Amino acid sequence: MLHFYYGVMGSSKTAQLLMQRYNYQQLGLKVALVKPAVDTRAGQNVVFSRVGLQADAELVLGPTHSIREQLLWLAAQRAHSDFQYLFIDEAQFLSEAQVQELAELSDSLDIFCYGLKTDFRGQFFPGSAALLRLAEVIEEVPGGLCWCGKKATMNTRVDPQGSVIKEGAQVLIDNHQSIRYIGLCYEHWRKGISHG
Ligand SMILES: [Zn+2]
Repeated sequence: MLHFYYGVMGSSKTAQLLMQRYNYQQLGLKVALVKPAVDTRAGQNVVFSRVGLQADAELVLGPTHSIREQLLWLAAQRAHSDFQYLFIDEAQFLSEAQVQELAELSDSLDIFCYGLKTDFRGQFFPGSAALLRLAEVIEEVPGGLCWCGKKATMNTRVDPQGSVIKEGAQVLIDNHQSIRYIGLCYEHWRKGISHG
């Protein structure tokens, strides 16, 4: 079964993913932790949560990688091929073709994808759009809040002065911290107000 858990910046998606993975590991179930290569904020392999949990991904997917082939490679490294569960962080960065592969693999695997639904312009990421089309279970990770206390639904790119940016490339992860991402309610995203 293919699952998509979506949430805004600050909704603790990665922490949820890592806790769920831990529960499966405690039961002795065979899990693989996967992330797309585009997110390098905390090192190439690290799946990092802002609340402090982190783990090393076993697979880092390039944009043109076949997930099926990468899993075969991983199985060869580990001397077993019977993964039962895949946990994928930052799933919005998957390609449409990779999500299609996941849908096919989900005949025999339980696959848990966590990621953003939309970008800072309010547009779908290709991976998220494909997951919304193909996932059999779609649930929101709650908890993201706007500065005003309302539920945050919009991912927002802000510059060092706190100004809301609404134009630019979809993927721009700046390791020098000159931009950052926050969650805002729809009203404050629309009006471009990033703080009280
Ligand atoms: Zn607000």
